[in-house]
Amino acid sequence: MPATHSSRMIILGSGPAGLSAAIYAARAGMAPIVVQGIQPGGQLTITTDVENYPGFRDVIQGPWLMEEMQAQAEHVGAQMMYDHIIDIDLSERPFKLTGDGGNRYFGDTLVIATGAQAKWLGLESEHLLQGKGVSACATCDGFFYRGKKVVVIGGGNTAVEEALYLTNHSHDITIIHRRDSFRAEKILQDRLFAHPNIKILWNKAVETFVGGGNPEGLVGLDLIDTVTGEKSHISADGAFVAIGHKPATELFVDKLPLDEGYLVVEKGTSRTSIPGVFAAGDVTDKIYRQAVTAAGMGCMAALDAERFLAEADFEAMVHA
Ligand SMILES: Cc1cc2nc3c(=O)[nH]c(=O)nc-3n(C[C@H](O)[C@H](O)[C@H](O)COP(=O)(O)OP(=O)(O)OC[C@H]3O[C@@H](n4cnc5c(N)ncnc54)[C@H](O)[C@@H]3O)c2cc1C
Repeated sequence: MPATHSSRMIILGSGPAGLSAAIYAARAGMAPIVVQGIQPGGQLTITTDVENYPGFRDVIQGPWLMEEMQAQAEHVGAQMMYDHIIDIDLSERPFKLTGDGGNRYFGDTLVIATGAQAKWLGLESEHLLQGKGVSACATCDGFFYRGKKVVVIGGGNTAVEEALYLTNHSHDITIIHRRDSFRAEKILQDRLFAHPNIKILWNKAVETFVGGGNPEGLVGLDLIDTVTGEKSHISADGAFVAIGHKPATELFVDKLPLDEGYLVVEKGTSRTSIPGVFAAGDVTDKIYRQAVTAAGMGCMAALDAERFLAEADFEAMVHA
């Protein structure tokens, strides 16, 4: 029998943005409900070493960090729901969300923190070596490849930006691109072509990420020429798949304004175009996409929502 849950705040997503919003909202007495989705804890649960989240001098593990964040949110009073939302009605308050088992959630405010997923090539070897040399985030993992040989796969802005970022750590960077020209903005290309430490392999696609050693890690990539079909191999310690991100915004198409798929918020706030609906984290961030920025935006969303409700309550009282 489907259940109904109501709260002053429903938070959609349980990554750093959603859980930070939950911590702030719970401490403000809003008794938030967090709908966790099919990836409780979000993207950091699929990585290993995290070295850039403030507060920890030693490397910590992504899944551990997210367990701690959830425990902290629960400790201050947030309620977790293991459910995946498939339908949403933002036409009036309270907003209505429906889970895939039929459960319904009503929220006086809604914080959307559904994140974004890095796009992968979809190779089995890529999946097997994720976190062992294969990554989708140079800002997150580039530091682990100081002085090592790395490759970046892709040809758009993401790939060129990732390659340029990696020059902070490596002197041997190769971009592998399946075409003979980049789609990236010209100014980025100019910076890339001018950099002495970046080489480009045109018309090459990855066939296999090759592992080796003990413990196993990436040692190279088998490539195929997209024009001639010729096979080749390149050795590498790290590979960064940089073919873009996909924000989780299917639910909001035609309901909220999107920019390249990302939710649009009013500058400097978490407010969307619908009063009472807020967005935080990677779902609204096509630039930074870091755990700490997502957590910061989660905090903003909870504070914005709390102020929204205080104003709405005051107006209702005055009218009454
Ligand atoms: C492999 C990897 C390594 C990374 N390493 C680092 C690092 O070292 N340092 C760093 O700062 N950042 C790192 N990042 C980036 C970081 O993980 C993200 O920036 C951060 O997780 C974004 O947080 P978020 O809360 O916005 O979204 P996410 O973490 O993506 O969480 C989204 C949440 O929304 C839920 N959700 C989605 N759709 C629905 C739905 N329909 N119904 C209900 N729930 C839904 C999901 O289940 C999930 O809980 C890494 C990312 C990856 C992929």
